[in-house]
Amino acid sequence: MSELVIDGLHARVGRQEILRGIDLRVGSGEVHAVMGPNGSGKSTLSHVIAGRPGYEVTAGTVRLDGVDLLGMRAWQRAQAGLFLALQYPIEVPGVTLVEALSEAFAAMGRDPAQVPALVAAEARSVGFDESFLARALNVDLSGGERKRCEIVQMGAIRPRIAVLDEIDSGLDVDALRAVARRVGELATQAGIGVLAITHYNRLLSELPVSTVHVLSAGRIVASGGPQLALELEGTGYVAYEEEARA
Ligand code: ADP
Ligand code: MG
Repeated sequence: MSELVIDGLHARVGRQEILRGIDLRVGSGEVHAVMGPNGSGKSTLSHVIAGRPGYEVTAGTVRLDGVDLLGMRAWQRAQAGLFLALQYPIEVPGVTLVEALSEAFAAMGRDPAQVPALVAAEARSVGFDESFLARALNVDLSGGERKRCEIVQMGAIRPRIAVLDEIDSGLDVDALRAVARRVGELATQAGIGVLAITHYNRLLSELPVSTVHVLSAGRIVASGGPQLALELEGTGYVAYEEEARA
């Protein structure tokens, strides 16, 4: 069993405080959704967890199985078992997916020779066209293809905890289904704990979640079961915004 534990997390960009006290726990095989309006701090949360430079943590802790992640560089967090799918996956000219993953496997002390077969199997399971595997990572891929490519990486690496930032944005219905189905399988079959960050309810119609959290103005203002996402559909985020700013 693994657990990501976030306690009292405050973070700023420049002089603006964006995360204002976040508490979250995600265990193996659980799927949590963090929902919130644009600008509420969702991407900031994923970047701070993953260790992207440019954010200053002013209070709180992020631990994976008791190990403090905040003191680690991004690559060390990945080695510790954390995976982040970016909202906007970056292009890596000149490097194929298999090459990038082979490096990652070597760094983790795993056998890079396994990578091509793993990637081929994961690509099939999420409907990622195998002809893309020979191309540079994310170069000339559509938004939806990049999202499938992120899930191929998640499936090959099998992290302990995966943070998926807007994995549903830019996906058509078929891609959304394929991605959500595979993420759900990886949670239940491989025991990966998932933190799925989104502002759309439609992801949750395809991905069974255990818990929904509402993020507003840098705070979690409500947590509950999947029905909370349905309530949000009716009420919107407005009802929570005054509470968050109080
Ligand atoms: P979300 O993903 O929920 O839409 P973000 O975490 O991207 O929200 O942004 C939250 C707030 O932080 C926004 O007001 C945004 O303008 C600000 N912000 C995020 N990153 C930066 C940055 N690098 N520099 C300045 N402001 C930023
Ligand atoms: Mg965002």
